[in-house]
Amino acid sequence: MHHFRYLQGSLHAENVDLQSLAEQHGTPLYVYSKETIVDHYTRLDQGLSRLDHMICYAVKANSNLAVLSTIAQLGGGFDIVSGGELFRVLRAGGQAAKCTFAGVGKTRDEIEYALKEGIYCFNAESEAELRFIDQIAGEMGLKAPVAVRVNPNVDAKTHAKITTGKSENKFGIDFDRIEEVYEIIAKECPNLEIRGLQMHIGSQLTSVGPFVEAVEKVKPLVQEMKAKYGLQFFSIGGGIGIVYKQSLDSGSQDWWSLEGNESHPLTIQAYADAVVPLLEDLGLRILLEPGRFMVGNAGVLLTKVVYEKRGKAKVFKIVDAAMNDLIRPTLYEGWHQIVPVRSKVGAENELSDVVGPICETGDYLAQNRELPPLNAGDVLAVMSAGAYGFTMASNYNTRTMPAEILVDGTEAYVVRERQTLEDLVRGEHVPPVK
Ligand SMILES: *Cc1c(COP(=O)(O)O)cnc(C)c1O
Repeated sequence: MHHFRYLQGSLHAENVDLQSLAEQHGTPLYVYSKETIVDHYTRLDQGLSRLDHMICYAVKANSNLAVLSTIAQLGGGFDIVSGGELFRVLRAGGQAAKCTFAGVGKTRDEIEYALKEGIYCFNAESEAELRFIDQIAGEMGLKAPVAVRVNPNVDAKTHAKITTGKSENKFGIDFDRIEEVYEIIAKECPNLEIRGLQMHIGSQLTSVGPFVEAVEKVKPLVQEMKAKYGLQFFSIGGGIGIVYKQSLDSGSQDWWSLEGNESHPLTIQAYADAVVPLLEDLGLRILLEPGRFMVGNAGVLLTKVVYEKRGKAKVFKIVDAAMNDLIRPTLYEGWHQIVPVRSKVGAENELSDVVGPICETGDYLAQNRELPPLNAGDVLAVMSAGAYGFTMASNYNTRTMPAEILVDGTEAYVVRERQTLEDLVRGEHVPPVK
């Protein structure tokens, strides 16, 4: 279920007209639907209801305080990858005791901060890191809860830049070395408490196969480590893929009915049906770390057409959003549906590139797309931009970062203000002229 659809020819987020939001708040503008986030969380939670489970939302997908607060209110936990993300979670009302801390390069400051706040677990990715956490916990007179991230060497069959579970990726510890690493913790790290085992094989997976393969491969190891060291949890990571191509007609509101087609065979039902039976008999708490699934379809990026330029081969729609606002198309070859907010019925489509004003050939939001002729000032919606959108935005080309809006029913809240020109130079200093 998503909550973006055309009503009387104008695209809405829940009951709010996106055209009026663009007029009121300017563009580029990120708009999120709260109900969509709630719906996704609830579906996943229900899918896992037979398991003792905790959903740890991967904060890096969208870390706006309003999004984090929504998930905290639903009872969710958080998967964080930096001290900054922990700070955000706490600021949003999330509990440290429901946070897992992932990432290959945790620093002393971050480890101390997380220990002081009392996070649920460090998901450690190397022996060196485990020894460092042990040392710091010792200095602080604490015991640090840890899990080891296993690299199961399973092909997630996703884009190369978001595959994490192969031996050649930097993530996790090789499957064959895991037993030895747990032994080191038990024997040589008196300030660590073994709490779990973790894996995460990649992002935007569109079939259950790789999840099943990874769980089946790692399960015996989990059972053995549980018997030896008394694990509390097994985290199977995130990575559930979403549908980037959706129907927006007011008549066909249920995106989920589109799942199960060839381009997207993965549904929450299929995912739960496949993995829950494999996990039920473990007698462990199961952790999930979904990022994209929770927020991807819950957000759009609104952008205004600045110019149209008719080249020899195609038309360039030059818009006011750019790769600094949404880098997925150029970084991951990410495909985003792009639609005019005021629908153009009857217009004949033409082959177009939607490009931003940044001085980079890679600055595009879409290439070779069939779009209707547009006028300067027309507002476009870049769909499914809720995950890895704003969080990857930058100030490249000294562009201010967009505002963010959270829609809840008929209400629209500014949850992050647009940056000002002053914001762009804040903290910068020019040495005195000699
Ligand atoms: C990024 C990440 C996730 C979330 O991935 P999604 O594809 O957004 O679900 C989960 N766990 C870890 C360790 C990650 O690095």
